[in-house]
Amino acid sequence: MKARFIQCELCKKEIPLESCELATYRTAIDGKEYVFCCEACAKSYRKKRKE
Ligand SMILES: [Zn+2]
Repeated sequence: MKARFIQCELCKKEIPLESCELATYRTAIDGKEYVFCCEACAKSYRKKRKE
């Protein structure tokens, strides 16, 4: 079976989907859910969108 990956919206780091519940940080921005590798990336992305 092929492993599936999701990518951090900010740094594009690949995160194995099977570990996503533990290893990723999810947040909704403007009603859409985004996935990040950590909270710091989520905060940076949110900030970047506002600029
Ligand atoms: Zn990241």
